Amino acid sequence: MIPHLWNDLEGTFFPESALDYMPEDRLREVQLQRLKAVTALAYDRVPLFRERMTAKGAKPADVRRLEDVRRLPFMVKNDLRDTYPYGLFAVPMSEVVRLHASSGTTGKPIVVGYTAQDMDVWKQAIMRSLYSAGFRRADVVQNMYGYGLFTGGLGLHGGLEGIGATVIPISGGNSERQIMVMKDFGVTAVCSTPSYFIHLIEVAQKMGLDFKRDLKVRRGVFGAEPWTDHMRQYIEAASGIKAYDIYGLSEIIGPGVGNECEYQDGPHIFEDHFLVEIVDPATLEPVPDGQEGELVITTLSKQAMPVIRYRTRDITAIDIRPCRCGRTIRRIRRISRRSDDMFIIRGVNVFPTQIETALLKTEASLPHYQIVLTRKSGLDQMEVRVEVTGDMLRDSVGEMEQLQKRFARSIEQITGLHTTVTLVQPGSIPRSAGKAKRLLDTRNEA
Ligand SMILES: [Zn+2]
Repeated sequence: MIPHLWNDLEGTFFPESALDYMPEDRLREVQLQRLKAVTALAYDRVPLFRERMTAKGAKPADVRRLEDVRRLPFMVKNDLRDTYPYGLFAVPMSEVVRLHASSGTTGKPIVVGYTAQDMDVWKQAIMRSLYSAGFRRADVVQNMYGYGLFTGGLGLHGGLEGIGATVIPISGGNSERQIMVMKDFGVTAVCSTPSYFIHLIEVAQKMGLDFKRDLKVRRGVFGAEPWTDHMRQYIEAASGIKAYDIYGLSEIIGPGVGNECEYQDGPHIFEDHFLVEIVDPATLEPVPDGQEGELVITTLSKQAMPVIRYRTRDITAIDIRPCRCGRTIRRIRRISRRSDDMFIIRGVNVFPTQIETALLKTEASLPHYQIVLTRKSGLDQMEVRVEVTGDMLRDSVGEMEQLQKRFARSIEQITGLHTTVTLVQPGSIPRSAGKAKRLLDTRNEA
């Protein structure tokens, strides 16, 4: 059981965060003890895990060193779907105090469960996340993540209450009201998807408000969708806040697997609860630290649904450089690509964030954009629709055409693909209160 360690003083002393600075050999020891325990738990209680272990000829006793995690079988998202709803639970339902589920855009949702101790681990992971991003008990926080089955809203909520901040559980949507609340309630910090927050910056402008002058917001944690450093620069310049990346995924625990510290250089992973590996997605062999690959996570403390060697589809690398903040828990590079988001056009692998980088390199102002894939006479076509912003407006038609060409050239430099760029009217690309939909693929529609 993890003790409650929040100290009631003015938010400057937080012993639980001492775990972020544990001596490295002690940290690896904690990881190994917990890995042994979670492997034994899953083997005893989860038939799918035991069958796969048996097929590999492996036993929990084979885990003697941390590297032995490689002897354990992988899990993928389909395992959660195939065992819907409770097939991966390792405790009786009487022990489960909370359920969450994915939105389930394709078929059945995935269901995740938490015991009381799991809720405690989650809450503490979020508290450490918020603390490292500079949130303190004096903050008034507008939580714009969706409340409900999605892990974002209630996950952040627990940690925000844990650090003693004032939480406004507003959820997403109703953007003008969001701005009104932000102003009238004296909000100092926010939690949101980056794309929704960018939308709110525009809404505030339309309402005649200047984010820097009229609002007190100073920081925010952003996550639940891949975003680039360019996007961060845009958010910080346009709103005057500090934007920190929070990392997590519902299958593992929700938000709070890791978070950026004050140096904003990739999330520190709470390694005492989550064991991270990077593997080559094609061979599934481990890659050396520092090299890019697919992130694989094992939950070390979870009871209700232990998840072992989960293939996240997130492409990243373990950052081996020590962080200036002094935390010993390691960082991963910010996730700007998910292998699920990748699309293939004319044999080339493209990630939506590559298009975003190309657009932002060309024009400092952040364009709303959408990638539209079509098929004409058997040939794949890519069109990038870019919304014109005030900064982009040029006097003459010729100058606008030049801008279009520069966007296309920049995309070609990064992806190697020729593309059509269309400039569209402000507000014509749909906004979302949650994750942005960047890709419209109509190639297989009749
Ligand atoms: Zn750091």
